[in-house]
Amino acid sequence: MLEATRCLHCKNPRCVGGCPVNIQIPEFISHIVTGDIDAAAAVIAKDSSLPAVCGRVCPQETQCEGQCILGIKGEPVAIGKLERFVADYQHARPVGERGSAVAIKAVPNGHKVAVIGSGPAGLACAADLAKWGYDVTIFEALHKAGGVLAYGIPEFRLPKDKVLQKEIDEVTGLGVKIETDVIIGRTTDIDDLMENEGFEAVFIGTGAGLPRFMGIPGENLSGVFSANEFLTRNNLMKAYRDDYLTPIHAGKKCCVVGGGNVAMDAARTALRLGADTTIVYRRSEAELPARKEEVHHAKEEGIDFRMLTNPVEILSDENGWVRAMKCIRMELGEPDASGRRSPVPVDGSEFEIECDTVIMALGTSPNPLIAQTTPGLERTRRGGLVADEAGATTRKGIFAGGDAVTGAATVILAMGAGRKAAEAIDAYLKGE
Ligand code: FAD
Ligand code: SF4
Repeated sequence: MLEATRCLHCKNPRCVGGCPVNIQIPEFISHIVTGDIDAAAAVIAKDSSLPAVCGRVCPQETQCEGQCILGIKGEPVAIGKLERFVADYQHARPVGERGSAVAIKAVPNGHKVAVIGSGPAGLACAADLAKWGYDVTIFEALHKAGGVLAYGIPEFRLPKDKVLQKEIDEVTGLGVKIETDVIIGRTTDIDDLMENEGFEAVFIGTGAGLPRFMGIPGENLSGVFSANEFLTRNNLMKAYRDDYLTPIHAGKKCCVVGGGNVAMDAARTALRLGADTTIVYRRSEAELPARKEEVHHAKEEGIDFRMLTNPVEILSDENGWVRAMKCIRMELGEPDASGRRSPVPVDGSEFEIECDTVIMALGTSPNPLIAQTTPGLERTRRGGLVADEAGATTRKGIFAGGDAVTGAATVILAMGAGRKAAEAIDAYLKGE
């Protein structure tokens, strides 16, 4: 509440423009100041169905807080942490005691909509449609709902039962059904849902879960993982818990290749599993794409950073397991298309890093399965589904948003896309 008093209530609050879903930030903060947390939660709920998640994982420093006027000379208002406080406070109380912040179940309007994927895009789209009376079913390939929030982001950053599940429960509380273990494109397909199951519109929020590899020798050795597999085994198969029978080999010395948030999550997870962990990144620290906060935590926990270093081969022991990674030193050359100086190998500078596990965290692409099994759905050159601003794809009645369209991005952008598509689906089914 003390932090909330720092808000200046600017006439033109730039923080609202900095938030991709335009949460009315000064308004919810003013309710915290007066102690009316129900009212604060009700303001946030108008624009976000995952406040406890976003308060924890949004890159606030480049979004809402990055625009806060107080940040010019000092610390911006801790908007993310205030949002997290409001959401956690609400989740800690029984629904009956949460006053105006509880969404009321809508009167059914008789129209059925299918949502594919239960990540932030799918959950946000489903929540809005349910609030307007649609009969919504989410189909999820994995056995747990939540998308990357469940399988990718580790427990220590986003607690699953205490935080994520509670926000998913809010969505099912609106009447949304979630069917897990259903792979659209394998178990059934979109045409079957529309022609035989009575769904009049479909939203595709299948994310970008297809890992990339470097294409260097040795990537097929035992002990090499994609970050996605490594994190999924930990999060969904609970490899970090001694009482589960699905452990993982984190090794004694682990190298994580990459410099984004996914690399930081994989490295901090490997460290917690007992591995002496090194992050290997081909550019310098200034170009690390991960959030500063994540880099800070990783360093504080004892993770070693090897900058301007690129793997060229993964070396095997006599049993086909990783024994070391051969790397080459890099230097920064001219800026590339992204504006960042591109790394150039230094001839003859190869050296080995001893390790028994390698985790590749090089980015991901959208999975092609849905496009391959749905005639008429076009994809871009980079593998994303072709969709307009509102989420309409190249096939009538089929909408898409989130990482499945843009490629790997952020939770809040995926949520925003899901909400935009919900509006477009509503207009489409009303014949507008
Ligand atoms: P996803 O969250 O990927 O969800 C898609 C869902 O669709 C998945 O559950 C998948 O199983 C399901 N699915 C796929 N294909 C099918 C099919 N054929 N049939 C049925 N279901 C299917 N963003 C941030 O803002 N902050 C962070 O700190 C952050 N950290 C991250 C850490 C990691 C390790 C990763 C991998 C990503 C991180 N991101 C972060 C990015 C963010 O999580 C994603 O941008 C966001 O989750 C995308 O949401 P989505 O709903 O589009 O897709
Ligand atoms: Fe900031 Fe994210 Fe909350 Fe928007 S949703 S106010 S960007 S923390």
